[in-house]
Parts: sequence; structure tokens; C-alpha cells
Amino acid sequence: MQVVVLVKSIPDPSGEAKLGPDFLVIREGDGVLDPGDEYAVEAALTLAEASGGEVAVVSMGPANAASAIRRALAMGAHRATHISDEALRGADALATAKVLAAAVRRSPFDLVLAGVESTDGYTGTLPMTVAEMLGVPSATFARKVEVTAGVARVERQTEAGYDVVECALPALVTVTASAAEPRFPTLKGIMSARSKPLEQLALADLGLSPAEVAPTQRVVAVEATAEKGPGEVIQAGDDDAARIADLLAEAKVI
Ligand SMILES: Cc1cc2nc3c(=O)[nH]c(=O)nc-3n(C[C@H](O)[C@H](O)[C@H](O)COP(=O)(O)OP(=O)(O)OC[C@H]3O[C@@H](n4cnc5c(N)ncnc54)[C@H](O)[C@@H]3O)c2cc1C
Repeated sequence: MQVVVLVKSIPDPSGEAKLGPDFLVIREGDGVLDPGDEYAVEAALTLAEASGGEVAVVSMGPANAASAIRRALAMGAHRATHISDEALRGADALATAKVLAAAVRRSPFDLVLAGVESTDGYTGTLPMTVAEMLGVPSATFARKVEVTAGVARVERQTEAGYDVVECALPALVTVTASAAEPRFPTLKGIMSARSKPLEQLALADLGLSPAEVAPTQRVVAVEATAEKGPGEVIQAGDDDAARIADLLAEAKVI
């Protein structure tokens, strides 16, 4: 089984994200593999190991996305495709989906896995757009993915529990943190990642022009969340219960 994982390189989430004057994330230094995408890589490796298949990762991002891609290779992915092009700076989710769909389409695949939403952009729209462009069904919020006889069986997380969804391959599935416990890359894995195939592509290699990936939306303003003021301490006394009741009524809780 050929499994493709869409992996995003993001600024280190342990640091403070900075925006430039154009409201784009400043991506200096090494990117890290989005922690949400590690679950998808792990789920792909588990499925491929069970079927004797292979895992390819595909990522669109600036040059520093290479370190995130290497981590996926060190975890065990067999090969990678990195699409980078100055014309993609500031690409929106639609443009990114066009690019990723064009890259996935270049080779036969059975299953595409992705995170539910990225940790930095978190539109949560990209995987389903890619599925639509590839003309394959998509199943989202998978807490478990199994493949039997050309059919993906997905336990789809819901607020009340989970639904069981089945779709014929090829298909695209987004996975949650419950789908797998990501393995740590071993030293051997880190060393072997250096010699695994890493294909570098520009926009033209995908047959796309800058006009086709021009952003259709842009961020025009960003506002910080208002800081919360200090809470009110209600001392035990004659009217404490009445004051608490008033506050609950104000908050429309009662
Ligand atoms: C040169 C260059 C500069 C860029 N600069 C920025 C920037 O400044 N700010 C910014 O937010 N983005 C930037 N991107 C990336 C791109 O704009 C976003 O990836 C895209 O908008 C997806 O939106 P999202 O993160 O909300 O996806 P979501 O829908 O929230 O992501 C869901 C899942 O889709 C997959 N996915 C998402 N993005 C990618 C990706 N790029 N590659 C592979 N898989 C992916 C992952 O599996 C992810 O878990 C840049 C890309 C390039 C090539």
C-alpha cells in the first residue's frame, strides 16, 4: 500500500510566533514538524508496515521546512517531496491545496493522511480541498484507521463518541492525536534519513503558474486577545450567596 502524508513545517511552537508587517508568520530558523502531523506519520508507518507498503511525505514550505521533512524520514518514511518557490510566499490554503494535490497526483497512491488542522495556520480546510482536487473521498477526525481489502475503515471522533465510516481506496483521511502514539526517531533512523530520496520541486515542475496560486484571501488585520482582568474574591459574609447568584445571573448561567 502506498501511503502519502501531508506534513507541514511550522515555527517551533515552544517559542513565540512573530508576524511580519504583511501579517505573515516570520519563518526564521529551522522549522519543526507540526506535532499534529506526527500522528499522521505514525499512522501511515503502522499501516504500511502491516501491508509491506511505503510512506511518502509531501510538504510545501520555505527552505527551512527541510528539517521537518527530515524528522518524518527519520521516523521511518521512505521518501519525501518538498515544494518550495518564492511565488508561494504568503500562499493561502486554496493555493497550498492546489500545489499539494498536484504533487500527490504525480505518483500512484492508495491513501493520503493529514493532520486535522495545523498548529500555526489552523484553517482545518486544506486536506478536504486536496481530496476534492484529487477526486477521492475524505474521512475526517479519525481516531483509528484500518485498511482491509481496498477499504479504509475509520473511527470518526464525535462529541458523543465515534462514528464508523468506510470508504473505498484511494481516499484521504485526517487523523487526531488518538490515532497513534508517534515514535521517536532512533539514531539509526536519523542517520538513514540523510540518504533517503528527497525530491525538491518548484511550481513549474508541477505544471502550475504563479497566477494559478495567487492568494485569493489575505490577512488584513490582527488583534491580540483582550487580557482578562483580575477575578473578584467574595468573602464569606451575610450577602455572599446573593452576590454569587447575581454574578451567575449576569453571566446568564442561571
Ligand atoms: C515560501 C512559503 C512561505 C509560506 N509562508 C507561510 C506563512 O508565512 N504563514 C503560513 O501560515 N503559511 C505559510 N506557508 C504555508 C501555507 O500557506 C499553508 O500551509 C496553507 O495556508 C495551509 O493552511 P493551514 O495551515 O491552515 O492548513 P490546515 O488545513 O489547518 O492543515 C491541516 C493539515 O493539512 C496539511 N498541511 C497544511 N499545510 C501544509 C503544507 N504547507 N504542506 C504539507 N501539508 C500541509 C497538514 O497535514 C495539516 O495538519 C508558506 C508556504 C511557502 C511555500
